[in-house]
Amino acid sequence: MTDPAHPFGRKARQRALIDPVSCTGCGWCAMFCVMDCIVLRPDGLYEVNEDRCIGCRSCKVNCFSGAVTMLPPKMTEENAP
Ligand code: SF4
Ligand code: SF4
Repeated sequence: MTDPAHPFGRKARQRALIDPVSCTGCGWCAMFCVMDCIVLRPDGLYEVNEDRCIGCRSCKVNCFSGAVTMLPPKMTEENAP
C-alpha cells in the first residue's frame, strides 16, 4: 500500500558506514546522530544501524578519524522506479 505521506515513494538516501579499522571507539559521532542510530558494539567500537540512518552526514563531518563513509543511496521497493 502506498504511504500517504510519500505518495511518490520515499527519496533514496545515503547511509553511513563506520570502518572498524579506522574507528577508535571515541563515541563522538554518536552524540551528533539525530536518529540515535550509532550503537556501541560489544568490542567497544561503534556501528550504524543502517535501517534507521537517514544519511544526514553529521557523523561523517564530526569524526576526527575519517572512519565514516557514506554509502550510495539504496533503492528499496518503496522508492524503486
Ligand atoms: S567519531 Fe569516528 S572514531 Fe569516534 S566512534 Fe565515531 S566513527 Fe569511531
Ligand atoms: S548519517 Fe546521520 S542519521 Fe546516519 S548514522 Fe550518521 S548521524 Fe546518524
